[in-house]
Amino acid sequence: MLNYQLPPDFDVMRDDHKCIRCGACVEQCSYEVHTYDETYDEVVADNEKCVGCHRCDVFCPTGALTISLHRGDFRPNTNWKFEFIRNVRKQALAGGVLLTGMGNDKLDLIYWDRMLVNASQVTNPSIDPLREPMELRTYLGRKPESLDFEENDGHISLKTEIAPQLELNIPVVFSAMSYGAVNYNVCEGLARASKEFGTYWNTGEGGLHRNLYKYGSNTIVQVASGRFGVHREYLDAAGAVEIKIGQGAKPGIGGHLPGEKVGPEISETRMIPVGSDALSPAPQHDIYSIEDLRQLIYAIKEATRYEKPVSVKISAVHNSAAIASGMVRAGADIIALDGIRGSTGAAPTMIRDNVGIPIEFALAAVDQRLRDEGIRHQASVLIAGGIRCSADVVKAIALGADAVYIGTPALISVGCTVCQKCYTGKCPWGITTNRPDLAKRVNPDIAAENLYHLLEGWSHEIMEMLGGMGINSIESLRGNRLHLRGVGLTDTELDILGILPAGR
Ligand code: SF4
Ligand code: SF4
Repeated sequence: MLNYQLPPDFDVMRDDHKCIRCGACVEQCSYEVHTYDETYDEVVADNEKCVGCHRCDVFCPTGALTISLHRGDFRPNTNWKFEFIRNVRKQALAGGVLLTGMGNDKLDLIYWDRMLVNASQVTNPSIDPLREPMELRTYLGRKPESLDFEENDGHISLKTEIAPQLELNIPVVFSAMSYGAVNYNVCEGLARASKEFGTYWNTGEGGLHRNLYKYGSNTIVQVASGRFGVHREYLDAAGAVEIKIGQGAKPGIGGHLPGEKVGPEISETRMIPVGSDALSPAPQHDIYSIEDLRQLIYAIKEATRYEKPVSVKISAVHNSAAIASGMVRAGADIIALDGIRGSTGAAPTMIRDNVGIPIEFALAAVDQRLRDEGIRHQASVLIAGGIRCSADVVKAIALGADAVYIGTPALISVGCTVCQKCYTGKCPWGITTNRPDLAKRVNPDIAAENLYHLLEGWSHEIMEMLGGMGINSIESLRGNRLHLRGVGLTDTELDILGILPAGR
C-alpha cells in the first residue's frame, strides 16, 4: 500500500530562549503534542498532532509558543484546494467517513454579513436606551387570534385563555447540547446562567441529570429519535418539550455517542447500559407524516397536562416553509429551525458542509409562508445555526424570528477555540469531553458567570441597536424587514429574504 505522511495542519513554534521547561504545555495538551526530552533538557513538539486549540500557548507562562497554520508548498489550485487533497489522502490511507466538529465554515454561506440594519436620522428620532425604557422580554408559544376582555366591578381583566408561554429576558436561548456530547460541568453552567439571566437551555437528546432538575423551569427538554432519558419526571421537570426531527449540522442522519463516553452517570441519565453506543436513528420511528407528528405533539401535551409549549425542531431544508406550515397545523407551539451552519459535536464533513440551506433563507421563507397562511401567531419561530453576535440576533428578529438559539458562542464563552475536533472526545478546554481530568477544566461557577456576561453584553448591544432604529421594544422589530437592507445580493436572494437592496 502506498503510504505517505499528511502535512500537518499547524506549526508549533517554540522560542527556546523564552522556554523555561516548566512543562505546562506538556500537561495541558490532550493530544500529546509536547514532550519533555530529558537527555537534551528541551521540550519538543510533534506538529502533526496539533489541532490548533491554543490551549498550550494560552497557558505558557513565558509566551514562548506560537501556533500558526502550516504553510504547505502545494501548488495553488482553485479547483483542487488543499482541503480536498488532504481529505482524499486521508480516506485513501484509512477509508471511512471524514468526521468534523462544530459548524460549517464555508464563508460564502453567511448571509447575515450581506444584510445591514437601519438607523433613525432626523425625521424619526432615535431612543437612548440608557435614559428610556427598552423592552427585550420575549414570549415563546402559541398566541391567541384576538384578545377578549371582561369587566367585573369596574375592573377590566383578560378573558382570553393564553396558551403556555416561555418567558425570556432576551430573545436568546442556549442551543441543544446533550449531556454526553458536553459534560456535566458545561450543562450546569448553561442551566445556572439560564436561570440567573431569565432564559432557557436545552438538554439535547442526552436526558437531564438528576442534579439539574432544580433548573427544570429554565430547561427545554428534547424528545429525539433515540428517546434517551425520556420519562415522565423528565417531561414534568421541563419548561418546554422539543421534538427533534433534525439538526442543521447533519440533516437527515442520526447521531452517535460512542460507548467509551457512556460512563455510569451518562448511562443513568440516558437510560442505557454503561459502555454501550448511544445510536440515534435518522428518523423518529413513529413519525412518517404530519399526522404522526401531530400524535406525538398531543401525546406530549397530554402527558404534561397542556401546561408546557411543545417545540418541533427541523433542519433548514428546501421545503422548510411547507413543513413548518404542517408543523403549526399539527399543534407545534414553537418551530425551531436549524440552518446549515449549525454546530455539532460530531458530523460527517460532507454532510455538514453540503446538506441543508442557510438559516437566513429558511427563516424568511417560513415566516412569510406562515404570514401568508394567516397562522404566524399560532407558533413562535426559534432559529439556530450561525448566530455569532448581537447584530446577527437583531437581523434574525427583523427577518422574522421570535428568538434565536446560540450554541457555539455559548461554548466559546466557556473556553472553546472552535478547533473543530470535538469528535475526538479530547477537548483540551474540557467542554466536549467526559475525561475527568479534562472535564474539570470547566468550572461550572465560572462557566455560568461567563455565559451570564455574554447575555448581558448582547442585551446592551441589542438595546443600542433598537434605540438607534427608534424602536423601544424587540416586539416592534419582529418581522419588520424594512429595517434591513441587502448588500451584494442577487434579485432572487433579495426576493426570498424579502428585503430591499441598500440605497433603496
Ligand atoms: S509552557 Fe511554555 S515555557 Fe512551559 S515548557 Fe511549554 S513552551 Fe516552555
Ligand atoms: S468544544 Fe473543544 S474540541 Fe470542540 S471546537 Fe471547542 S475547543 Fe475544540
